[in-house]
Amino acid sequence: MSAVGEATKPKTKPLQLSADEAVAWHSLPADDVLEHLQVSPEQGLSDAEVAERQAQAGLNQMTPKAQQSALLRFLLQFHQPLIYILLAATVVTIFLKEYTDAIVIFAVVFVNAVIGYVQESKALAAIDALAKSMTAHAQVIRNGHRQEIDARQLVPGDVVLVQSGDRFPADVRLVRARDLKVDESALTGESVAVEKNQEPVPADHGLADRLCLGYASTSVTYGQARGVVIATGDRTEVGKIQQSIAGADDLETPLTRKIKQFSHLLLWVILALCVVVFLIGLWRGESLADTFMVAVALAVGAIPEGLPVAVTIMLALGVSKMAARRAIVRKLVAVETLGSTSVICSDKTGTLTENQMTVQRLAAGGHTYEVNGLGYRPEGDILLDGQAADLATNQALARCLQAGLLCNDSAVAEKEGKWTAEGDPTEAALVVTAGKGGLQRAELEQDCPRLDAIPFESEYQYMATLHGGEQPIIYLKGSVEALLERCDHAMLADGTLADVDPAAIMQQVEQMASDGLRVLAFATVDAPAGLTAIDHGNTGSGLVFLGLQAMIDPPRQEAVEAVHLCQVAGIAVKMITGDHALTAAAIAGQVGLLGREENGRLVAITGKELEKMSDEELTEVANSTAVFARVSPDQKLRLVKALQANDRVVAMTGDGVNDGPALKQANIGIAMGITGTDVAKDAADMVLTDDNFSSIEGAVEEGRGVFDNLTKFIVWTLPTNLGEALTILAAIAFGTQLPVQPIHILWINMTTAVLLGLTLAFEPKEPGIMDRPPRPADQPILTFELTMRTLLVGVLMLAATFGLFVYERRLGASLAEAQTVATTVLVVMEVFYLFSCRSLVRPVKEIGFFSNLWIYYGIAAMLFLQALFVYLPFMNNLFSTSPLGGVQLLRIFGAGLTLLIIVSIEKHFRFRANSRASVATKEAASAAD
Ligand code: ADP
Ligand code: MG
Repeated sequence: MSAVGEATKPKTKPLQLSADEAVAWHSLPADDVLEHLQVSPEQGLSDAEVAERQAQAGLNQMTPKAQQSALLRFLLQFHQPLIYILLAATVVTIFLKEYTDAIVIFAVVFVNAVIGYVQESKALAAIDALAKSMTAHAQVIRNGHRQEIDARQLVPGDVVLVQSGDRFPADVRLVRARDLKVDESALTGESVAVEKNQEPVPADHGLADRLCLGYASTSVTYGQARGVVIATGDRTEVGKIQQSIAGADDLETPLTRKIKQFSHLLLWVILALCVVVFLIGLWRGESLADTFMVAVALAVGAIPEGLPVAVTIMLALGVSKMAARRAIVRKLVAVETLGSTSVICSDKTGTLTENQMTVQRLAAGGHTYEVNGLGYRPEGDILLDGQAADLATNQALARCLQAGLLCNDSAVAEKEGKWTAEGDPTEAALVVTAGKGGLQRAELEQDCPRLDAIPFESEYQYMATLHGGEQPIIYLKGSVEALLERCDHAMLADGTLADVDPAAIMQQVEQMASDGLRVLAFATVDAPAGLTAIDHGNTGSGLVFLGLQAMIDPPRQEAVEAVHLCQVAGIAVKMITGDHALTAAAIAGQVGLLGREENGRLVAITGKELEKMSDEELTEVANSTAVFARVSPDQKLRLVKALQANDRVVAMTGDGVNDGPALKQANIGIAMGITGTDVAKDAADMVLTDDNFSSIEGAVEEGRGVFDNLTKFIVWTLPTNLGEALTILAAIAFGTQLPVQPIHILWINMTTAVLLGLTLAFEPKEPGIMDRPPRPADQPILTFELTMRTLLVGVLMLAATFGLFVYERRLGASLAEAQTVATTVLVVMEVFYLFSCRSLVRPVKEIGFFSNLWIYYGIAAMLFLQALFVYLPFMNNLFSTSPLGGVQLLRIFGAGLTLLIIVSIEKHFRFRANSRASVATKEAASAAD
């Protein structure tokens, strides 16, 4: 009824957003669309209009797609080979009418599934929440001003601006597009970028052919555009097909995969052993029921039930630890890989440097000037030989400053007494310098308003603007390499033109660059009268060179320290930049990068040189060189591959729209949270919220810590399973009764995994965690040494459990009593062994007895539960246990203590041998230098 009513409503005022869905926006001319949505492309909506429309259309956000149903995800927890064994054991025990056992085994499976489900949901939610915390922004025109808003606040009719690297924040009808290319793979799956424009298309064209529409969540790979929002939130095309783009990430990592493979192997081993045990039992003439129970015990004992869940929990914990260090992990796998990172390739500007640009030197019209004044405060002077320069005496200087001010999209503003850059810091610095020369943009633009622009793209390395007036004029700024070859004249101080002398200019540039200054060149050219739009064709040649401005961008102090920490940790740090080779090398030297040097200066390989190298040569050069300058995004990709060919685990930063492939190829792709484009963030495994190199170092540190703790957990848990399985096998070999029954084993495994094992997740990072080389990516979790320790502890557990059981029986203890002793001694040994596992190589006193209080809480809880297990009549009935006496407890305690002492001795000798070996290699390494 209401649908009919709405359709017949007139589509003029008042604006009815819900009725607009029927409009074929793509078939209407842009002006009609604007009229229909009652908005002007210059003014945008007013706040009142926004509020009114938001009341109708709601926020611009998509209802998240229901992912796998909760029930399905819960059921999937049972879909693991080792769980099958337990389910089979349940069935077998039901057949044997061992109902208590059946119930306990199933309860364990069930509880395990619940914990797994809850933890997995938590991990997913945490990653999701972090992803969402990086809110998308949108550039809009509202109340006649350009402003940046949270993309969720968009309403139909909003005028939005997009440029390369942005994602469309909603469905948009383009009003003006310039060289616009859009990657619509998020919507259509087609990865070749589509060229778009503002021209209407026939109404019956399909989604992919509506070239005048920009769809929410597709990304701009080139050019820029202005458009008007036609649909938001669930009404966008993406919203309609309910593709939640942020989509929950995979929880699988190399480690969890390895564990899965290990489980499969274990499954077959266990099945084979069970068959053997079963056959032996039958051969000995034991009852079918008894042999079945033995087989079940063996299976249950050998399975590390808690392992997969614990690994997920610990990795997820790593995610929040890294978030605290300003690194947002987008894929769980990053937590693990970060620990084995062996080379970090970092941007220069903003990551290793402050991105606080101040022009210090100017060269124009044959003179070189010094500029004083600090930061973005537009106060200071342009000095020639210590005297304030007069612009009137140097036309070239005046025009050079003008070019810097007009060919510019940024500004500076005073906020709370502090002058800051609004927009690109490089450009803001130029605004400041022009200000120091007495120029103001508003005044200049009265005479020559901007008509069009070619935005800066790192591939072209320059930006150009077209200005109207009596004589239309184009101003350009960019890298010297990009501009100089297009110039045939240079302006002199008196305003006349002379032939350009590239050699002299390049010499000046090199002088500035080798002082670590970032150099920009400026040029101009008269445009033909009547020109209103420009492209690269208008700026290809015949330019007039105006001058150079050189700015300082000091290294970040934290970065210097972080680089040093990385180097001590055996992680190479390389700089990859679009800047000049000499500037890059000078800054790299200041930050302390290490690499090939010549004449005491770091060697920088440029993109041009890189281009000429074969893949083999590059493999060699990539390894030895620390600085790569004037590098284009596709060369970044080659560099990553070359480093990986050296078996390096590569972390690579990126921010640009074309950095996606390199970020994907890198083992850890890192996007900049502040300056990064949406595209780069999408491709990355991790996003830095502060763009700071030291946050990468922090994340690596955390990654190492998490992996350490995972290893500790595994080394702690496996011997128990080994000990349990061996105990059962021993019972069979010696023909005794079972020292521990299946339900006892399950009791041990479940309670200790949660109460004891997981406390290892809270172990702080070991001292010296950044003093050792990165873990080789292909190194097994259980190294030879740790395998030996696992075997040692497993055998000790066997000895204590089986030994005490037999001993108790000899002393006349009941079966229940002896089994209680056997179960308790396993638990107590795990408690003692837990202490030892707090560090794999160091004695506990070195890491501090009280640095992880969770250990003690866990132990207290465990001992309390175990006391219930032993003394509570209810538990005695349920688990067939029996209260123990003081002497028995003493023997149990003694066994635990013995284990700790033996492992400590083993650790002591291993640690000494290791540190001797590592001192030897360090000495050898420094001797080789
Ligand atoms: P990076 O971020 O590694 O320093 P960029 O790709 O940003 O490198 O810059 C490369 C070169 O392009 C700079 O050395 C400079 O000459 C030039 N450049 C940088 N920003 C701009 C800009 N906004 N407009 C024009 N040219 C620029
Ligand atoms: Mg840059």
